[in-house]
Amino acid sequence: MADIRYFTGQSLPLEMHKVRVVQKLDLVPIERRLEAIGEAGSNTFLLRNADIFIDMLTDSGVNAMSDNQVAAMMKADDSYAGSETFTRLESKCRDLFGKEYFVPAHQGRACEHILAQLLVGDGDVVPMNYHFTTTKAHITLRGGSIEEIPIQEGLAVESDHPFKGNMDIEALRKVVETKGPEKIAFVRMEAGTNLIGGQPFSLENLNAVRQVCDQFGLRLVLDASLLADNLYFIKAREDRCAQMSIREINAAISDLCDIIYFSARKLGCVRGGGMCIDDHELYLQMRELIPLYEGFLTYVGMSVREMEALTIGLEETMDEDMINQAPHFIAYMVEELNKHQIPVVTPAGGLGCHVDAMQFLDHVPQKQYPAGALASALFLAGGIRGMERGTMSEQRDADGVEPLANMELLRLALPRRVFTVSQVNYVVDRLAWLYENRHIVQGLRFVDEPKNLRFFFGKLEPVSPWQDALAAKFRQDFGDSL
Ligand SMILES: *Cc1c(COP(=O)(O)O)cnc(C)c1O
Repeated sequence: MADIRYFTGQSLPLEMHKVRVVQKLDLVPIERRLEAIGEAGSNTFLLRNADIFIDMLTDSGVNAMSDNQVAAMMKADDSYAGSETFTRLESKCRDLFGKEYFVPAHQGRACEHILAQLLVGDGDVVPMNYHFTTTKAHITLRGGSIEEIPIQEGLAVESDHPFKGNMDIEALRKVVETKGPEKIAFVRMEAGTNLIGGQPFSLENLNAVRQVCDQFGLRLVLDASLLADNLYFIKAREDRCAQMSIREINAAISDLCDIIYFSARKLGCVRGGGMCIDDHELYLQMRELIPLYEGFLTYVGMSVREMEALTIGLEETMDEDMINQAPHFIAYMVEELNKHQIPVVTPAGGLGCHVDAMQFLDHVPQKQYPAGALASALFLAGGIRGMERGTMSEQRDADGVEPLANMELLRLALPRRVFTVSQVNYVVDRLAWLYENRHIVQGLRFVDEPKNLRFFFGKLEPVSPWQDALAAKFRQDFGDSL
């Protein structure tokens, strides 16, 4: 979105692209929505697409590709080994991230699996600004543990701190000194910190993290899955970077990190992933594992078409007009929700809009999953699918004790370049209705709780027939309309 000012003084986000392929959507009636949420065990992951109107579950693998990406897919060079498609992708990664080796993997968590196998030993610790679900699972599976050390503002729902994804540098030094540097597998920084609201770190903070790593001889690993948003926020919010191009900021970040890995389901808007490294020894070790778990080194689990589109997608990430669409839409949505006093994570981040279910449903105890309850209620209210990011997304510890999440968020992702302002306005309208009627919404309890990653497949039920009551109120307020 270029710097365009409106004559009439309005401030709506403006797309610097046009839509050339569309997918028809249906909004099913409230009676079907009530049935569907029951069939899904009140878990939005288990809903069927046919029942969903606006899908804000995730930004993963559902971002809109550009015409140039789709065109590039046609020239993919399909071969088991040595494909030109891989060579093009490899040299693009070398060019953008400045590392000698590019090792592909079929998605982000596959990179985490390989990295954890090679770098995490029993009893090791990985300090990080914040965890991501699959990251933590892979580290703990290896007998390691994580230390989350975001700055204090990182966990405050409402704040005006521009970089809530920053790491607490003093805390990092303390963790390393207490555990001993030999126990630190690596230090991990996550761009656009996913689970605390898509919040960025600053280049200054990353510099400070690097200094601590240098002091103790530690590797710095960057999870770059949400790097596009973070690049945009550094340019927009960090004064000393305002004059830098996105490409220059990207190069500065890359220079500070030893390993850069990403989910290409987000970064590059395709489906896949990969790791960029300089360390020759580590590269050789990866080369042994990749063919076992992923596939031959030049295709892994990715189709060559996706690889070709990724090469273009990574280059397009360097274009400010391509990466600022989602942050602008999210900022707009947060502003609109604020007008209705709906509690939401501020400042607006990347990835999506994060409604604070702890405040929204302050009468629902955390053990009854307020964010999950709110997700099921919003589906009822408007066929809108969001994702619980709270206690349901946590895992019981070895003794079966359920840790309560720091935040109870309903995440409404805005996949890049997919939705329009009117669709965002519709979602805001339904949230406003739900906020008016929030007293009707109660909690959920598990009826089927898987041991690992329970938020994906777990089934729950409402603690009382409140979903029926909410549907009845919908009919009363909206009559025969959808
Ligand atoms: C999505 C994501 C991952 C995992 O990537 P997948 O491609 O979904 O396996 C890892 N880290 C972050 C920050 C992510 O957002």
